[in-house]
Amino acid sequence: MSLRQELERRENEWLSPHAARSSQSRGRLRPEPECSLRPAFQHDRDRILYCKAFRRLKHKTQVFLAPTGDHYRTRLTHTLEVSQIARTLARGLRLNEDLTEAIALGHDLGHTPFGHAGEKVLDRLLPDGFRHWEQSLRVVDVLEKDGQGLNLTEEVRLGIYSHSKGRGAFLPENGEMSGVSLEGQLVRLADVMAYIAHDTDDAVRGGVIAEGDLPEVVRRVLGPRLSRQIDTMVRDLLAQSQATGGERLVMSPEVQEAMWTLRDFLYQRVYDNLEVHGDFIKASKVITELFERLMADDEFFSAQVGPLPEARDRARAVADYVAGMTDRYALTLYEQTFLPRPWARF
Ligand code: MG
Repeated sequence: MSLRQELERRENEWLSPHAARSSQSRGRLRPEPECSLRPAFQHDRDRILYCKAFRRLKHKTQVFLAPTGDHYRTRLTHTLEVSQIARTLARGLRLNEDLTEAIALGHDLGHTPFGHAGEKVLDRLLPDGFRHWEQSLRVVDVLEKDGQGLNLTEEVRLGIYSHSKGRGAFLPENGEMSGVSLEGQLVRLADVMAYIAHDTDDAVRGGVIAEGDLPEVVRRVLGPRLSRQIDTMVRDLLAQSQATGGERLVMSPEVQEAMWTLRDFLYQRVYDNLEVHGDFIKASKVITELFERLMADDEFFSAQVGPLPEARDRARAVADYVAGMTDRYALTLYEQTFLPRPWARF
């Protein structure tokens, strides 16, 4: 018996009847021989961890643009915090931890530089719009490995695609996520738990809000700070879901209401507030001008991206390139392209 088969056997023994099993995966985009060491989802997790888009997350905005302060979250640390919360939940509900981790590590790979500012610009400039969760799937399916993609399993791909909920409900409603594994649904919740807690923490750090500004219900039910807040949400989800035999993900109305309140508060006081901030507007300008230059200037396109595609595919190629940039790459390229360089010879 190979190590993979032994691990698959242990999964079958340990996991809840509602968990996804590596040995019963719906398969990869293109069939390939299985690894002798790692079950399918563990293998996918590793492919994501080693891909270039994952490494670029360290220089992409979470909320605060290209922060100089070392303690602010970036997309990378956001992703790691989502993964930590999701794995705690998965282990507690005896769901597949490898699948959960793979989805969590991959969920934000499609984010643009400058966070929401970049996403808004690309959504406006592309004929079919731009949504980061579609781009995350595109990164793993098409863009990574010089256009070959990572050839992940259906469960990981669907989990990545379905992670976003915008301002909608946290828990799936009316069969909205039917077909998505409980592990995928778990990551979607862990994403919210992570960002409402750490964006509050960063906003206090950045002086945008004070801890005392948090709505009363948030402080009372979730707690005043990140560690208590996460602990409360995690325990609530575990206890409520275990009460259903682990068949569904459930949270108490009280904790959900406090989460909604905190999210609304963040939109009002932090996200929407930053959107009218001068730097958000400047970042939008950087993305817009790089996009337009790459569309209009063949030489610039070839030097940056590679051979020119057919005219009808160009906007997509430019969007893929721009979306893949880190904040600092976009700023450097902008500076080199649009700003005069001082004459340096004496
Ligand atoms: Mg996220």
